[in-house]
Amino acid sequence: MKYEDLLCPSPAGLYCKPGDFHIDPVRAVDRAVITHGHSDHARSGHARVLATRETLAIMGERYGEDFAGATQPLGYHQKTDINGVTVSLAPAGHVLGSAQAVVKWKGMTMVVSGDFKRRRDPTCALFEPVGCEVFITEATFGLPVFRHPPDTDEIAKLLKSVAQFPERAHLVGAYALGKAQRVICLLREAGYDRTIYVHGALERLNALYEAHGVKLGPLAPATGGKKADFAAAIIIAPPSATQDRWSRRFPDPVVCFASGWMRVRARARQGGVELPLILSDHADWDELTMTAAEIRPDELWITHGEEDALLRWASLNGQKARALSLVGYGEDEGEEA
Ligand SMILES: [Zn+2]
Ligand SMILES: [Zn+2]
Repeated sequence: MKYEDLLCPSPAGLYCKPGDFHIDPVRAVDRAVITHGHSDHARSGHARVLATRETLAIMGERYGEDFAGATQPLGYHQKTDINGVTVSLAPAGHVLGSAQAVVKWKGMTMVVSGDFKRRRDPTCALFEPVGCEVFITEATFGLPVFRHPPDTDEIAKLLKSVAQFPERAHLVGAYALGKAQRVICLLREAGYDRTIYVHGALERLNALYEAHGVKLGPLAPATGGKKADFAAAIIIAPPSATQDRWSRRFPDPVVCFASGWMRVRARARQGGVELPLILSDHADWDELTMTAAEIRPDELWITHGEEDALLRWASLNGQKARALSLVGYGEDEGEEA
Protein backbone atom coordinates (compact mmCIF):
# COMPACT_ATOMS: atom_id res chain seq x y z
CA MET A 1 0.00 0.00 0.00
CA LYS A 2 1.29 3.44 -0.91
CA TYR A 3 0.70 6.63 1.04
CA GLU A 4 -0.74 8.09 -2.17
CA ASP A 5 -3.58 5.58 -1.88
CA LEU A 6 -4.79 7.50 1.17
CA LEU A 7 -4.03 11.11 0.24
CA CYS A 8 -2.81 12.49 -3.03
CA PRO A 9 -2.51 15.90 -4.66
CA SER A 10 -5.26 16.76 -7.16
CA PRO A 11 -6.18 19.95 -9.05
CA ALA A 12 -8.72 20.78 -6.34
CA GLY A 13 -6.22 20.17 -3.52
CA LEU A 14 -5.32 17.16 -1.37
CA TYR A 15 -7.77 14.33 -2.05
CA CYS A 16 -8.56 11.26 0.04
CA LYS A 17 -9.77 8.61 -2.38
CA PRO A 18 -11.03 5.95 0.08
CA GLY A 19 -12.88 8.62 2.09
CA ASP A 20 -13.91 10.61 -1.02
CA PHE A 21 -13.14 14.01 0.51
CA HIS A 22 -10.76 16.90 -0.07
CA ILE A 23 -8.74 18.86 2.47
CA ASP A 24 -8.82 22.67 1.99
CA PRO A 25 -10.01 22.35 -1.63
CA VAL A 26 -9.43 25.36 -3.86
CA ARG A 27 -12.59 24.69 -5.85
CA ALA A 28 -16.10 23.64 -4.86
CA VAL A 29 -16.31 19.90 -4.02
CA ASP A 30 -18.82 17.46 -2.57
CA ARG A 31 -17.06 16.94 0.73
CA ALA A 32 -14.40 19.17 2.31
CA VAL A 33 -12.37 19.07 5.50
CA ILE A 34 -11.22 22.63 6.26
CA THR A 35 -8.17 23.35 8.44
CA HIS A 36 -8.84 27.04 9.15
CA GLY A 37 -10.72 30.16 8.10
CA HIS A 38 -8.17 31.99 5.92
CA SER A 39 -9.60 32.50 2.45
CA ASP A 40 -7.02 30.41 0.57
CA HIS A 41 -8.02 27.35 2.65
CA ALA A 42 -11.67 27.99 3.43
CA ARG A 43 -13.73 28.65 0.32
CA SER A 44 -17.49 28.75 -0.06
CA GLY A 45 -19.67 26.51 -2.19
CA HIS A 46 -18.85 22.99 -0.94
CA ALA A 47 -21.77 20.58 -0.49
CA ARG A 48 -20.49 19.38 2.91
CA VAL A 49 -17.89 20.90 5.22
CA LEU A 50 -16.23 19.38 8.27
CA ALA A 51 -14.23 21.78 10.48
CA THR A 52 -13.94 23.04 14.05
CA ARG A 53 -16.90 25.00 15.38
CA GLU A 54 -14.74 28.16 15.34
CA THR A 55 -13.70 27.71 11.70
CA LEU A 56 -17.34 27.14 10.70
CA ALA A 57 -18.29 30.35 12.54
CA ILE A 58 -15.52 32.28 10.76
CA MET A 59 -16.69 30.95 7.37
CA GLY A 60 -20.26 31.92 8.20
CA GLU A 61 -19.10 35.41 9.13
CA ARG A 62 -17.11 35.86 5.94
CA TYR A 63 -19.35 34.20 3.36
CA GLY A 64 -22.80 34.25 4.95
CA GLU A 65 -24.59 31.40 6.71
CA ASP A 66 -25.29 29.52 3.45
CA PHE A 67 -21.58 29.10 2.62
CA ALA A 68 -21.99 25.29 2.39
CA GLY A 69 -24.82 22.82 1.78
CA ALA A 70 -24.26 21.19 5.17
CA THR A 71 -21.75 21.60 7.97
CA GLN A 72 -20.40 19.26 10.62
CA PRO A 73 -18.46 20.68 13.57
CA LEU A 74 -15.73 18.50 15.05
CA GLY A 75 -13.92 19.36 18.29
CA TYR A 76 -10.18 18.85 18.74
CA HIS A 77 -9.40 15.14 19.35
CA GLN A 78 -12.90 13.97 18.46
CA LYS A 79 -13.02 11.30 15.80
CA THR A 80 -15.38 10.83 12.93
CA ASP A 81 -15.65 8.21 10.22
CA ILE A 82 -15.87 9.18 6.56
CA ASN A 83 -16.42 6.12 4.34
CA GLY A 84 -14.16 3.98 6.54
CA VAL A 85 -11.45 6.64 7.00
CA THR A 86 -11.02 8.03 10.52
CA VAL A 87 -10.64 11.80 10.61
CA SER A 88 -9.80 13.92 13.64
CA LEU A 89 -8.55 17.47 14.20
CA ALA A 90 -5.59 18.59 16.32
CA PRO A 91 -4.71 22.20 17.23
CA ALA A 92 -2.42 23.96 14.72
CA GLY A 93 -1.68 27.15 16.71
CA HIS A 94 -2.26 29.36 13.65
CA VAL A 95 -5.51 31.30 14.26
CA LEU A 96 -8.71 30.71 16.27
CA GLY A 97 -10.09 27.26 15.43
CA SER A 98 -7.13 26.26 13.24
CA ALA A 99 -6.55 22.52 13.03
CA GLN A 100 -4.34 19.86 11.58
CA ALA A 101 -6.34 17.19 9.78
CA VAL A 102 -5.37 13.72 11.05
CA VAL A 103 -6.37 10.99 8.60
CA LYS A 104 -6.13 7.28 9.57
CA TRP A 105 -6.81 4.27 7.39
CA LYS A 106 -5.60 0.67 7.42
CA GLY A 107 -2.93 1.37 10.02
CA MET A 108 -1.56 4.47 8.22
CA THR A 109 -1.70 7.95 9.72
CA MET A 110 -1.21 11.08 7.64
CA VAL A 111 -1.35 14.57 9.11
CA VAL A 112 -2.10 17.70 7.09
CA SER A 113 -0.83 20.63 9.15
CA GLY A 114 -2.63 23.39 7.27
CA ASP A 115 -0.89 26.62 8.21
CA PHE A 116 0.71 26.36 11.64
CA LYS A 117 3.10 27.85 14.16
CA ARG A 118 4.67 26.47 17.34
CA ARG A 119 4.69 29.57 19.52
CA ARG A 120 2.15 30.28 22.18
CA ASP A 121 -0.63 32.56 20.95
CA PRO A 122 -3.20 33.94 23.43
CA THR A 123 -5.92 33.78 20.75
CA CYS A 124 -5.76 30.08 19.92
CA ALA A 125 -4.81 26.60 21.15
CA LEU A 126 -1.15 25.57 21.00
CA PHE A 127 0.02 23.29 18.16
CA GLU A 128 0.09 19.63 19.14
CA PRO A 129 2.49 17.25 17.39
CA VAL A 130 0.80 14.04 16.25
CA GLY A 131 2.83 10.94 15.40
CA CYS A 132 2.33 9.89 11.79
CA GLU A 133 3.86 8.17 8.77
CA VAL A 134 3.44 11.24 6.57
CA PHE A 135 3.50 14.83 7.81
CA ILE A 136 2.24 17.31 5.24
CA THR A 137 3.59 20.75 6.06
CA GLU A 138 3.44 24.29 4.73
CA ALA A 139 6.72 26.16 4.18
CA THR A 140 5.72 29.83 3.93
CA PHE A 141 8.88 30.89 5.79
CA GLY A 142 11.00 27.88 4.80
CA LEU A 143 14.31 29.72 4.52
CA PRO A 144 16.98 29.92 7.24
CA VAL A 145 16.82 33.73 7.02
CA PHE A 146 13.35 33.62 8.54
CA ARG A 147 13.71 33.51 12.28
CA HIS A 148 10.88 35.32 14.01
CA PRO A 149 11.91 37.20 17.18
CA PRO A 150 9.90 36.80 20.42
CA ASP A 151 6.51 38.51 20.13
CA THR A 152 7.11 40.35 23.41
CA ASP A 153 10.11 42.16 21.82
CA GLU A 154 8.00 43.38 18.91
CA ILE A 155 5.18 44.62 21.16
CA ALA A 156 7.78 46.35 23.37
CA LYS A 157 9.08 48.15 20.25
CA LEU A 158 5.57 49.41 19.53
CA LEU A 159 4.94 50.58 23.11
CA LYS A 160 8.32 52.28 23.27
CA SER A 161 7.52 54.22 20.11
CA VAL A 162 4.10 55.24 21.51
CA ALA A 163 5.84 56.60 24.62
CA GLN A 164 8.49 58.35 22.54
CA PHE A 165 6.06 60.11 20.17
CA PRO A 166 3.01 61.01 22.28
CA GLU A 167 1.84 63.61 19.75
CA ARG A 168 1.56 61.03 16.95
CA ALA A 169 -0.91 58.18 16.35
CA HIS A 170 0.38 54.63 15.82
CA LEU A 171 -1.41 52.93 12.97
CA VAL A 172 -0.79 49.16 13.00
CA GLY A 173 -1.53 47.20 9.83
CA ALA A 174 -2.66 43.69 10.78
CA TYR A 175 -4.65 41.07 8.86
CA ALA A 176 -8.29 40.88 9.85
CA LEU A 177 -8.37 37.20 10.81
CA GLY A 178 -5.92 36.26 13.53
CA LYS A 179 -3.18 38.86 13.43
CA ALA A 180 -5.33 41.81 14.52
CA GLN A 181 -6.71 39.96 17.53
CA ARG A 182 -3.27 38.59 18.44
CA VAL A 183 -1.72 42.07 18.40
CA ILE A 184 -4.52 43.35 20.65
CA CYS A 185 -4.11 40.42 23.10
CA LEU A 186 -0.32 40.84 23.18
CA LEU A 187 -0.74 44.55 23.95
CA ARG A 188 -3.05 43.62 26.85
CA GLU A 189 -0.54 41.07 28.15
CA ALA A 190 2.13 43.79 28.04
CA GLY A 191 -0.07 45.86 30.37
CA TYR A 192 -1.59 48.26 27.82
CA ASP A 193 -5.10 48.84 29.16
CA ARG A 194 -6.16 51.96 27.24
CA THR A 195 -8.83 51.91 24.54
CA ILE A 196 -7.50 50.44 21.28
CA TYR A 197 -9.12 51.90 18.16
CA VAL A 198 -10.08 49.57 15.32
CA HIS A 199 -10.96 49.98 11.64
CA GLY A 200 -14.54 48.97 10.77
CA ALA A 201 -13.32 46.03 8.66
CA LEU A 202 -12.07 44.29 11.83
CA GLU A 203 -15.14 44.73 14.00
CA ARG A 204 -17.05 41.56 13.12
CA LEU A 205 -14.10 39.21 13.51
CA ASN A 206 -13.13 40.93 16.77
CA ALA A 207 -16.68 40.28 18.03
CA LEU A 208 -16.45 36.66 16.88
CA TYR A 209 -13.20 36.16 18.81
CA GLU A 210 -14.78 37.73 21.91
CA ALA A 211 -17.80 35.42 21.52
CA HIS A 212 -15.37 32.47 21.57
CA GLY A 213 -13.79 33.61 24.81
CA VAL A 214 -10.83 35.67 23.56
CA LYS A 215 -10.84 38.83 25.70
CA LEU A 216 -9.74 41.92 23.76
CA GLY A 217 -10.33 44.64 26.39
CA PRO A 218 -11.68 48.14 25.63
CA LEU A 219 -12.05 48.75 21.87
CA ALA A 220 -13.63 51.65 20.00
CA PRO A 221 -14.22 52.44 16.32
CA ALA A 222 -11.48 54.58 14.79
CA THR A 223 -14.02 57.05 13.44
CA GLY A 224 -15.37 60.38 14.62
CA GLY A 225 -13.54 62.55 17.07
CA LYS A 226 -10.99 65.22 16.22
CA LYS A 227 -7.59 64.50 14.80
CA ALA A 228 -5.87 65.52 18.02
CA ASP A 229 -7.96 63.01 19.98
CA PHE A 230 -5.89 60.24 18.40
CA ALA A 231 -2.53 61.52 19.65
CA ALA A 232 -0.71 58.67 21.47
CA ALA A 233 -3.48 56.28 20.37
CA ILE A 234 -2.96 52.81 18.89
CA ILE A 235 -5.18 52.07 15.91
CA ILE A 236 -5.41 48.61 14.30
CA ALA A 237 -6.43 48.44 10.64
CA PRO A 238 -6.14 46.14 7.61
CA PRO A 239 -2.71 46.72 6.00
CA SER A 240 -4.16 48.38 2.89
CA ALA A 241 -5.97 51.01 4.98
CA THR A 242 -2.72 52.24 6.55
CA GLN A 243 -1.69 53.66 3.17
CA ASP A 244 -4.93 55.19 1.91
CA ARG A 245 -6.95 58.34 2.52
CA TRP A 246 -8.49 56.81 5.62
CA SER A 247 -5.19 57.18 7.48
CA ARG A 248 -5.15 60.97 7.05
CA ARG A 249 -7.65 61.45 9.86
CA PHE A 250 -4.91 60.65 12.37
CA PRO A 251 -2.15 63.00 13.60
CA ASP A 252 1.16 62.32 11.78
CA PRO A 253 0.66 58.53 12.01
CA VAL A 254 3.56 56.16 12.59
CA VAL A 255 2.72 53.41 10.11
CA CYS A 256 3.46 49.94 11.54
CA PHE A 257 2.89 46.54 9.96
CA ALA A 258 2.69 43.26 11.90
CA SER A 259 3.87 40.48 9.56
CA GLY A 260 6.54 37.81 9.23
CA TRP A 261 7.54 39.51 5.99
CA MET A 262 8.76 42.50 7.97
CA ARG A 263 11.95 40.51 8.46
CA VAL A 264 12.71 41.65 4.90
CA ARG A 265 13.68 45.32 5.23
CA ALA A 266 13.05 46.06 1.54
CA ARG A 267 9.44 44.96 1.96
CA ALA A 268 8.93 47.33 4.85
CA ARG A 269 10.50 50.19 2.90
CA GLN A 270 8.45 49.52 -0.23
CA GLY A 271 5.28 49.44 1.83
CA GLY A 272 6.02 52.77 3.45
CA VAL A 273 6.24 51.11 6.85
CA GLU A 274 8.02 53.24 9.44
CA LEU A 275 7.91 50.68 12.24
CA PRO A 276 8.05 47.04 11.06
CA LEU A 277 6.80 44.50 13.62
CA ILE A 278 7.97 40.94 12.91
CA LEU A 279 4.91 39.02 14.06
CA SER A 280 3.92 35.93 12.10
CA ASP A 281 1.24 33.28 12.44
CA HIS A 282 3.38 30.86 10.41
CA ALA A 283 6.22 28.64 11.58
CA ASP A 284 9.66 30.13 10.95
CA TRP A 285 12.63 28.08 9.75
CA ASP A 286 13.47 26.79 13.23
CA GLU A 287 9.88 25.83 13.95
CA LEU A 288 9.52 24.01 10.61
CA THR A 289 12.69 21.96 11.04
CA MET A 290 12.10 21.38 14.76
CA THR A 291 8.63 20.06 14.01
CA ALA A 292 9.86 17.69 11.28
CA ALA A 293 12.65 16.46 13.59
CA GLU A 294 10.23 15.97 16.48
CA ILE A 295 7.56 14.09 14.52
CA ARG A 296 10.13 12.25 12.40
CA PRO A 297 7.62 10.94 9.83
CA ASP A 298 8.57 8.36 7.20
CA GLU A 299 7.91 11.09 4.65
CA LEU A 300 7.64 14.86 4.82
CA TRP A 301 5.42 16.37 2.15
CA ILE A 302 5.50 20.10 1.53
CA THR A 303 2.31 21.74 0.27
CA HIS A 304 3.44 25.26 -0.67
CA GLY A 305 5.89 28.02 0.12
CA GLU A 306 9.70 27.99 0.13
CA GLU A 307 10.22 24.28 -0.38
CA ASP A 308 13.78 24.09 -1.76
CA ALA A 309 15.66 24.81 1.44
CA LEU A 310 13.42 22.48 3.42
CA LEU A 311 13.95 19.68 0.88
CA ARG A 312 17.69 20.21 1.21
CA TRP A 313 17.50 20.21 5.01
CA ALA A 314 15.53 16.95 4.82
CA SER A 315 18.07 15.27 2.58
CA LEU A 316 20.95 16.37 4.84
CA ASN A 317 19.09 14.92 7.82
CA GLY A 318 18.13 11.61 6.21
CA GLN A 319 14.47 12.62 6.06
CA LYS A 320 12.57 11.52 2.99
CA ALA A 321 10.69 14.51 1.57
CA ARG A 322 8.81 15.70 -1.49
CA ALA A 323 7.32 18.95 -2.70
CA LEU A 324 3.66 18.82 -3.74
CA SER A 325 3.69 22.38 -5.11
CA LEU A 326 -0.04 22.74 -4.60
CA VAL A 327 -1.52 25.70 -6.42
CA GLY A 328 -3.89 28.21 -4.86
CA TYR A 329 -2.43 28.53 -1.37
CA GLY A 330 -0.44 31.43 -0.07
CA GLU A 331 -1.70 33.59 -2.94
CA ASP A 332 -3.38 35.66 -0.30
CA GLU A 333 -0.44 35.05 1.97
CA GLY A 334 -0.25 38.80 1.95
CA GLU A 335 -3.59 38.46 3.62
CA GLU A 336 -2.40 36.37 6.50
CA ALA A 337 1.35 36.04 7.02
ZN1 LIG B 1 -3.63 30.66 7.18
ZN1 LIG C 1 -2.42 29.68 3.91
